[in-house]
Amino acid sequence: MKIFKFGGASVKDAESVKNVAFVLESEGFENCLVVVSAMGKTTNALEQVVHNYFDKVNYQTEIEKVKQMHLEISTGLFPKGHAVFAEISLFFSDLESFLRRNKSPNYNFVYDQVVSCGEMISSKIVSEYLSDIQFKNTWLDARDYIKTDSNYREGNVNWEETQKKISALDSQTCYVTQGFIGSEANNFTVTLGREGSDYSAAIFAYGLNADAMTIWKDVPGVMTGDPRKFENVSLISTISYEEAIEMAYYGASVIHPKTLQP
Ligand code: ADP
Ligand code: ASP
Ligand code: MG
Repeated sequence: MKIFKFGGASVKDAESVKNVAFVLESEGFENCLVVVSAMGKTTNALEQVVHNYFDKVNYQTEIEKVKQMHLEISTGLFPKGHAVFAEISLFFSDLESFLRRNKSPNYNFVYDQVVSCGEMISSKIVSEYLSDIQFKNTWLDARDYIKTDSNYREGNVNWEETQKKISALDSQTCYVTQGFIGSEANNFTVTLGREGSDYSAAIFAYGLNADAMTIWKDVPGVMTGDPRKFENVSLISTISYEEAIEMAYYGASVIHPKTLQP
């Protein structure tokens, strides 16, 4: 089994999603599990929704903006009248109903239920797009596989349970799932910490005893420095786990620091 992970920048618009399909085609779309993050800056926008909700200021407009962004991306991927458009609208009206009905004063709990919507809808769109172009795949709810404690916003993985669930997956199938999210004992959503999708991919790779895990980013690979901040950086062709852990730990944001351990 191979694991591929595509972050927010890799699914930020219709062109990027098409590029994901192109990458998967060239890598061989078979026996693989694809982990996707929320599209573009969706997570930040959903954080704003939660912020406004607790501040008792208009959060509906923020939800509407996020919805429109997903509809717009989908317009570049699907023909007019495709079922995905109704699905997106329903998804965001469910999110609004959740907030309207919510009685929990727990910010972190509400944060996780809301912010996870970015990954849920992104993975749905990618999965449906791949199906439409004949990349047969099964959409997977990562929350049924990655089990955590109730430490909302920084969930700690229950490795025993997670391993048991993930190892039951069929290694002959292609899956599309979400990064960043798991669920606690009562099945409420728990996020794994900002930028945690790399970590999710590693959790699946560990649980499936995968042959390889590839994290696709908007850079050629791990470099000697952040190319956005430094000139004259070069590509590191191989790196030991120890060095990679050290780089991540000291802030090389190209790899989430929790990723290497599993
Ligand atoms: P994603 O959200 O798709 O997972 P990120 O934006 O988190 O991707 O990570 C990719 C970014 O990491 C690059 O665009 C780059 O600016 C930055 N980066 C920081 N340090 C490094 C490094 N040592 N090598 C490569 N990229 C790096
Ligand atoms: N979407 C989440 C974030 O922006 C997780 C991730 O992208 O890794 O933090
Ligand atoms: Mg990211």
